[in-house]
Amino acid sequence: MNFSWALIALLSCCLLLIALPSCAGERSLHTPEILGENSHSGRDQFEIERQEMVEYQIRDRGIQDQRVLAAMSKVPRHEFVESPWKDFAYSDRPLPIGHQQTISQPYIVAYMSETAEISPDDKVLEIGTGCGYQAAILGEIAKEVYSIEIIPELAARARQTLSQLGYENIEVKTGDGYQGWVEHAPYDAIIVTAAPEKIPQALIEQLATNGKMVIPVGGGWHQDIIVLTKTEDRIIKEKTIPVRFVPMRRKLLK
Ligand code: SAH
Repeated sequence: MNFSWALIALLSCCLLLIALPSCAGERSLHTPEILGENSHSGRDQFEIERQEMVEYQIRDRGIQDQRVLAAMSKVPRHEFVESPWKDFAYSDRPLPIGHQQTISQPYIVAYMSETAEISPDDKVLEIGTGCGYQAAILGEIAKEVYSIEIIPELAARARQTLSQLGYENIEVKTGDGYQGWVEHAPYDAIIVTAAPEKIPQALIEQLATNGKMVIPVGGGWHQDIIVLTKTEDRIIKEKTIPVRFVPMRRKLLK
């Protein structure tokens, strides 16, 4: 009798353990250890999280550009962050990338990419390569991307990640974004992902006529995105959303 009760108790425990993963609730994190044999592999799980990111963080918040949505669905964001952060790669927040810098929140990457109105034949300049994720999104929607990073180690790592993923239309250099990259100017669009206190004059000069620059501007941690449009005879600036980017630095570190 005692033996039968023990057997029933053991069987119930096993059933409970099998049932747990399916009632684990929202799947915002990559949790391979609780996935059963018939569940998706780790790689598929990132794919699921990426599609959820596009639906709930990006499309639901009003991003409509199909090419931006396709790029955000395709680029493996988890490949751009280091191990401890991979599980959070598709969450609705910026993440550390070392050297006190961060990769932007997915929505902000999509917002800036859409706002710059990039066409397939465009040449784009990015200031602040960081881990290279925004550059990869731009690489999907533009013809050529030039990206400048002031911290040499971050530039080297971004270059390596981008080449491992097969991007041949993105060039990364270590340098000071305040000067732009005059050799490849003019640019059809410029995206700046670190915040200066005012818009650098060199970047305005290197923007093509009818080009757009999307740039966070402001001191400290409170900035606004400014969308600057250059026409034949004037510069139009429009303040859009409040944001928080790392400050744009003035000098090379070493
Ligand atoms: N776009 C990046 C996020 C950038 S975080 C991504 O997708 O990961 C901002 C980056 O701007 C940091 O890596 C920082 O080192 C860089 N930065 C700051 N000041 C700069 C400057 N003057 N010129 C170029 N890069 C700069």
